[in-house]
Amino acid sequence: MICPNCSNREVGMLTSNRYFCHSCCVEFTRAKNKWKLYEITEDGLLTHTQKIVFESAEG
Ligand SMILES: [Zn+2]
Repeated sequence: MICPNCSNREVGMLTSNRYFCHSCCVEFTRAKNKWKLYEITEDGLLTHTQKIVFESAEG
């Protein structure tokens, strides 16, 4: 498991399809062939802004 945002391997699994990167503090979910990223505010809340990252062919 590699973070789609920063490519770090410090990624923890929250639920079956929700992950959290300890390196860039971004939570992300998988949706078919792309990732939805949610930035965490200082309050620990998820922002409404999402960033979509398409999976690379390398997997
Ligand atoms: Zn990251």
